[in-house]
Amino acid sequence: MKTSKEIKCSFCGKDKSATNVLVAGLSAHICDQCIQQAQSIVNEEASQQFTQSLSQSMTLLKPVEIMDFLNQYVIGQEDAKKVLSVAVYNHYKRLMHESKNSPDVEIEKSNIIMVGETGTGKTLLARTIARMLNVPFCIADATVLTEAGYVGEDVESVLSRLLQAADYDVSAAERGIVYIDEVDKIARKSDNPSITRDVSGEGVQQGLLKMLENTVINVPPQGGRKHPEQKMIPVNTQHILFICGGAFDGIDKIISRRVQQQAIGYSVSTDESSFDKDNLIQHIAPADLKHFGLIPELIGRLPVITYLTALDKHALLRILSEPKNALIKQYAKLFELEGIKLVFTPEVLEYVVDKAIEFRLGARGLRSICEAIMLDAMFEMPGKKQGKELKITLSYAMKQLDKAKTNKLRVA
Ligand code: ADP
Repeated sequence: MKTSKEIKCSFCGKDKSATNVLVAGLSAHICDQCIQQAQSIVNEEASQQFTQSLSQSMTLLKPVEIMDFLNQYVIGQEDAKKVLSVAVYNHYKRLMHESKNSPDVEIEKSNIIMVGETGTGKTLLARTIARMLNVPFCIADATVLTEAGYVGEDVESVLSRLLQAADYDVSAAERGIVYIDEVDKIARKSDNPSITRDVSGEGVQQGLLKMLENTVINVPPQGGRKHPEQKMIPVNTQHILFICGGAFDGIDKIISRRVQQQAIGYSVSTDESSFDKDNLIQHIAPADLKHFGLIPELIGRLPVITYLTALDKHALLRILSEPKNALIKQYAKLFELEGIKLVFTPEVLEYVVDKAIEFRLGARGLRSICEAIMLDAMFEMPGKKQGKELKITLSYAMKQLDKAKTNKLRVA
């Protein structure tokens, strides 16, 4: 047996007495300093692999190219597309920069908040960006979340969904995108700090805040409630891009008040026409979100703010036929697979858009209206003689929509 004097670190050769800790293996020893050195080699190697896998699995385009990609799927919303292109580009550039282990300048994360009526393309934008980057993506609904310990889903369930989307590949999930919808619904109920506990509002905001910070969160793999016996998966949220969206109903009044006050405060001309009253949303600022009921800490974690405007008739018409996977193109493809050429007359497209506006369904309604019009044709089409042309005329569309009991489509 060796005496303690003879025991040395097998890597640097130091005597046991010259080390703080000497760990014994089967036929070797390692001292604390060599362990630290080895650990830093492992870290460096891991970070190089991370950078490599990032550049392999992700296609990082320049902001202008990101915008071009978005243009293929999203109609209008130029400001939002531009802001998102820059934010996403910076986010992933930061990620690659950090994984190169250069601690000189720390670039802060650019989580995003989008404000705009429902059905204007918020989810579509987030989804399209994830598709472009080829990273895991999930959508979470803020309204089902509650503060830990209360009925509802814990905030961690959001990350469970991202893990599922990444097929439980933790490192892939850690550079994914999470879209949190309806954040306006977790606004604080009043501007004063709450006296009673606000478990579905401010409580959730506090929970989200934790997630948006750079922390490691223990995530229950199956989501939902935590069970003591369930094995948790640690997920680092440092590189996850969070995009929040909400309609923020009534925020235009808040913006209007602020803009007018500012105009008076700075003794600038109070001429109201100096700002576009119909499109107040474009003046959205963090102060308005605070006024609406988001806590300042959360707003601070969402440094990039952008807005989406309501879609007018012209935009809806374009949505119907222009995007890469436009509805009209989808129907044409379906019929083409059956060997039938499908043609819509221009009046039909206008009719569909008018109905979507009339039923107050926005872009979301285009699909249900088209489905109602196309149902019979799609029912009868399979097995029909090939090489035929099917022309959808205005009178046919009107008849089909009447038949489909359009009242069901109408928003109350
Ligand atoms: P939001 O998240 O703002 O409520 P969505 O992105 O879910 O709205 O939009 C619903 C559907 O409407 C989308 O799937 C898409 O088909 C269509 N749509 C909405 N806005 C646009 C847009 N600007 N360009 C193209 N399609 C859109």
